[in-house]
Amino acid sequence: MKRFDGDRLIVATHNQGKLEEISKLLEPYGIALTSAGELGLAEPRETETTFVGNARIKAHFAAKASGLPALADDSGLAVEALNGAPGVYTADWAETPQGRDFPMAMKKVWTALEAAHAPFPRRAKFCCTLVLAWPDGSDAVFAGEMVGQVVWPMRGTQGHGYDPIFQPDGFALTFGEMDRWQKNEISHRADAFAKLIAGCFS
Ligand code: IMP
Repeated sequence: MKRFDGDRLIVATHNQGKLEEISKLLEPYGIALTSAGELGLAEPRETETTFVGNARIKAHFAAKASGLPALADDSGLAVEALNGAPGVYTADWAETPQGRDFPMAMKKVWTALEAAHAPFPRRAKFCCTLVLAWPDGSDAVFAGEMVGQVVWPMRGTQGHGYDPIFQPDGFALTFGEMDRWQKNEISHRADAFAKLIAGCFS
């Protein structure tokens, strides 16, 4: 597997929260990180139907535009009884004309499960795919996941997105009830980053 041996990496995101989270995870490697947003790069349309497809679009677009290696992630919640929905459309399910509304999106998930008379426990997983792309068009892909169940009502006010309705296996708390350190130890993103670091950075 191709290793990262440079000292500059582009994080293919326009989301400051994602940049901070990735900066924290890559802190020990002394790499200067710059986001696609900071470079003023355009945001490519995510037209694929898989996490890896969309992460590849973002990583390759930023690598080509900047001439530097670029890292992108794509993530979401896949609910078994909904055939993997919302999946790559997890963020879209929260869109409203006024911006993203996650309580509304979580309600949508639960309503769809009720409509489908889904059996309990309502199995689901959070998925995260990372793509590290080089300007020459090569890349490395790492996928992480955390399995668990969708619960109702929402529990907890920590975290973000769909955290209050996701209870990971082996825990009595939802992601929304965990502090960020506990979540970051076990999350789909931590799983994918551990693989990236073992494969390309260590
Ligand atoms: P992305 O930025 O296109 O990868 O969007 C991913 C979507 O999945 C966002 O709407 C997030 O809210 C949701 N998501 C991803 N990871 C998590 C998580 O750890 N907790 C809650 N929601 C998440």
